[in-house]
Amino acid sequence: MSMALSGIGVSRGIAIGKAHILQHGNIDVTESELPANLVEQEVNRFRQAVHTARQQLQSIRERIPEDTREDIAAFIDTHLLMLDDNTLAAAPIDLIRARHCNAEWALKLRRDAIVEVFDKMNDAYLRTRRDDIDHVINRIQRVLLNDAAEPGRADTDHLHGAIVLAGDLTPADTVLLQHEGIVAFVTEYGGPLSHTAILARSLRIPAIVGMHNVTRYVHDGEQVILDGQAGILIASADENLLKHYRNRQYDEKQWRIELDKLKHVPAVTIDNKPIQLMCNVELPVDIEAANREATEGVGLYRTEFLFMNRSDTPDEEEQYKCYLDVLNRLQGRPLTIRTLDLGADKEVDGGHPGDRLCTNPALGLRAIRLCLRDKDLFRPQLRAILRTSAHGPVRMMIPMLSNSQELLQVISLVNEIKQELRQEGHGFNPDMPVGGMIEVPAAALSATFFARHLDFMSIGTNDLIQYTLAIDRIDDEVNYLYDPLHPAVLRLIQMVIMAGESAGIPVTMCGEMAGDPRYTRLLLGMGLTEFSMHPASLQEVKQVVKSSSLQELAPLVRRLLETQEPEEISSLLDTINADIDLPAQG
Ligand code: PEP
Ligand code: MG
Repeated sequence: MSMALSGIGVSRGIAIGKAHILQHGNIDVTESELPANLVEQEVNRFRQAVHTARQQLQSIRERIPEDTREDIAAFIDTHLLMLDDNTLAAAPIDLIRARHCNAEWALKLRRDAIVEVFDKMNDAYLRTRRDDIDHVINRIQRVLLNDAAEPGRADTDHLHGAIVLAGDLTPADTVLLQHEGIVAFVTEYGGPLSHTAILARSLRIPAIVGMHNVTRYVHDGEQVILDGQAGILIASADENLLKHYRNRQYDEKQWRIELDKLKHVPAVTIDNKPIQLMCNVELPVDIEAANREATEGVGLYRTEFLFMNRSDTPDEEEQYKCYLDVLNRLQGRPLTIRTLDLGADKEVDGGHPGDRLCTNPALGLRAIRLCLRDKDLFRPQLRAILRTSAHGPVRMMIPMLSNSQELLQVISLVNEIKQELRQEGHGFNPDMPVGGMIEVPAAALSATFFARHLDFMSIGTNDLIQYTLAIDRIDDEVNYLYDPLHPAVLRLIQMVIMAGESAGIPVTMCGEMAGDPRYTRLLLGMGLTEFSMHPASLQEVKQVVKSSSLQELAPLVRRLLETQEPEEISSLLDTINADIDLPAQG
């Protein structure tokens, strides 16, 4: 009898192949006390391990074929940079000397301290960066323990056509495994926002994460079917089931071919309404992925990244160079730079006034609240963004606005800085659009006011849903309540779109909802004309746009917005989406 296991599908596609179990999950280490005369020897052993780990990563990087895209090598560069960071490379040495303990234990203590900081972070994306820390630390631990378990060291023929099952995979593992011919992978840990999940989507490897205990239930060498869209792994399938999935695999390939053809086709509805599809980016290199999808611009550039994984705060000049680099990579298309969305929970090593314990970080001193409190943090960023605007179409966007004073304070600060730059002879665009993210219910309810003072608004549904429904967006326990179709959420979105229309300013959506093709028609019917999303979703959303008629959608969407009954909402959405091929309900 067949057996189906489920996890989180993070990269679409059907794969059929032999399971290959990779054993290198969590590494257990114990503390040993060293006699004083062996401490320096242990320090050297640790230094040597870091050196070897670096050599390993460099060698993997060199093995990436020339035609592999730049952003993929960048994932490995991130790990190389972490190895150079004092937090990882130097702090364990102090611990070995202070505690007279073994290197493995010192590294474990350091890892626990870093992970604790990451776990308190409120932003899902930044929180999942702790996976990177784990990957780098595990690599050093493996060297210290003389553990050669790394994919791609041996048995490479064995991996051809395999579906890899592992506790966790690093981005480096993923690249290596792909070159060794694996057709899909499953991990027991990790989330949909991890670098490995993002990489799987970029490399188009069907993948599932968070499938707990998969390596216990499936045998090595057993034939399995993986559905990366539904997040399902099937073992012991009979001939009928195999045939069904072979057919689906063929359809999936055809679907992908059709989607690729859309890249250079404009996003226009059947009744000729042009829709603007843009991308969200976090790192300058992400622009390459956005460009490959022929994006119309960047609707959300999350600048927090520049401030993470370092012990100082980037100054104006560094920020200016970085923003200019992103703008240049976009070759004339608009760049929306979001000002810092750090908060009390999101510690940066350089330190800021938000570095304090806070019982409810999502409601604390974060984003614009923090920036207005700490002008030494905010002013250099505003200056850098304004200076970048001299070179092309830059828009500035303020996160987490919740009241009029914040908005008016930002506008007055921007005017003050323009005056300063003028006096110093710096170039900038005096009309650089200033927009606000509408991600707090209070801002959505006051959207008519905000629309009068802003040049554009962008709906951040990730936070808007969190705050409207009072559910922590990264808490698995309440994840089932996270519902973009809740009537209260839809009403707030509608209010923002209508406020933008009346004020004559553009309204974009940049939360995850904008990149989910299940909601594209609903949003089009509500009047949304600008979407910003992860590059991997762009063609799928475009395909839906191109098959939609705003005129036909209008009455159905009106009915959906009028009802409060979840079942009616769901059935009307099914009717609206009836003729399109959509990912399975997450
Ligand atoms: C949002 O809240 O929808 C958003 C896009 O911002 P972030 O996910 O960075 O909080
Ligand atoms: Mg947000």
